[in-house]
Amino acid sequence: MRNTRQREEILDFLHSKREHYTAVQIYDAVRQKIPDISLGTVYRNLGKLVESGEVVTVGTEDRSLCYDGFTFPHDHFVCTECKKIFDFEFEHTEPKGIISSGFEIEYERTVYYGICPICKKSKI
Ligand SMILES: [Zn+2]
Ligand SMILES: [Zn+2]
Repeated sequence: MRNTRQREEILDFLHSKREHYTAVQIYDAVRQKIPDISLGTVYRNLGKLVESGEVVTVGTEDRSLCYDGFTFPHDHFVCTECKKIFDFEFEHTEPKGIISSGFEIEYERTVYYGICPICKKSKI
């Protein structure tokens, strides 16, 4: 049942903080608990967790893909200065005409780009 343990450690880590991590960061953390885990195994498990909907990915333009263990609907704000990803819960309205044109929305993920308050302050 080693595979289950690997998956659980990855999920535990992702659930431990409301943060977004790259596969390498997850690997570094999980390796503390399972020293012989490989980066390939971490990627494989992450792939399965994404497939099963237990983990979502946040793709950004200028940094590697990040993984998010919080799968309830939320949007992301990526700071273009410090590259940090912030979570936001937004109320969404249907973009004009999508449903009336016969499209069925399965999910939506919005990523906003800009400058976070911390970077904005340090720029003044
Ligand atoms: Zn920032
Ligand atoms: Zn998130």
